[in-house]
Amino acid sequence: MSGRLSDLTWRELDARVAEGPPILFLPTGALEQHGPHLPLGTDAMLPALLAERVAAEIGGLVAPTLPYGYKSQPKSGGGNHMQGCASLDANTYILMVRDLICDFARHGLTRIVLFDGHMENQMFLTEAADLALRALKGEGIEEVRIVKLGYWVMIDEPLEETLFPEGLISWELEHAAVMETSVMLHLRPDLVRTDLIPDHPPAAFPPYDVYPFDPGSVCHSGALSSAAGATAEKGRAVVEGLVPALARQIAEAFPAP
Ligand SMILES: [Zn+2]
Repeated sequence: MSGRLSDLTWRELDARVAEGPPILFLPTGALEQHGPHLPLGTDAMLPALLAERVAAEIGGLVAPTLPYGYKSQPKSGGGNHMQGCASLDANTYILMVRDLICDFARHGLTRIVLFDGHMENQMFLTEAADLALRALKGEGIEEVRIVKLGYWVMIDEPLEETLFPEGLISWELEHAAVMETSVMLHLRPDLVRTDLIPDHPPAAFPPYDVYPFDPGSVCHSGALSSAAGATAEKGRAVVEGLVPALARQIAEAFPAP
């Protein structure tokens, strides 16, 4: 049977929940520029594609991906002023995720993974989980467990060496750079503009943030560091390393029902 929540009928889902609630993945992304070479939906596509693979290993279900996220930040995503970024205010985002968690849990889907692909969402996912647990407790629904992670958290030292044989500059500057480009080259090569892969020095930022952000203060392609080292083989190594590692970690995080 399909691992996609939206492919099931309500009776099929009801039967799955009655057997003991499956782990439900909610991929969370963004619509955000990803350099001259990757599509705007990169941060939504990657967690969606990875969540399906991880869920398949542990008998989980995958909810439809949230394709919008919190605002792109200059130091981690280039900034929300860049073309194609359409984002949500934090309050909107938190309440949307909270509402979904609550409805999933009310219907017995009490084991939820917030499976993130966009760094800027992270603390707001934490807040959404906290508000959802508080609301559900008030309704007498207490058997809820939520795990939050970015899909990249299980990139270990060997994988890092595969990705960056000459050394990693910093994960903060990996936006639209070697890791995302490699994984897209492996999973969605049809969407990578290989002739436009940027090769330039890493973006330089002061150690503080300035509001309002001055877009003229930085000069970059939308990628925060070079993506020239990206290859489909590196992308395959990341996917083949991450999927079983994430499956193991997530299964361990949920005691059997
Ligand atoms: Zn990204």
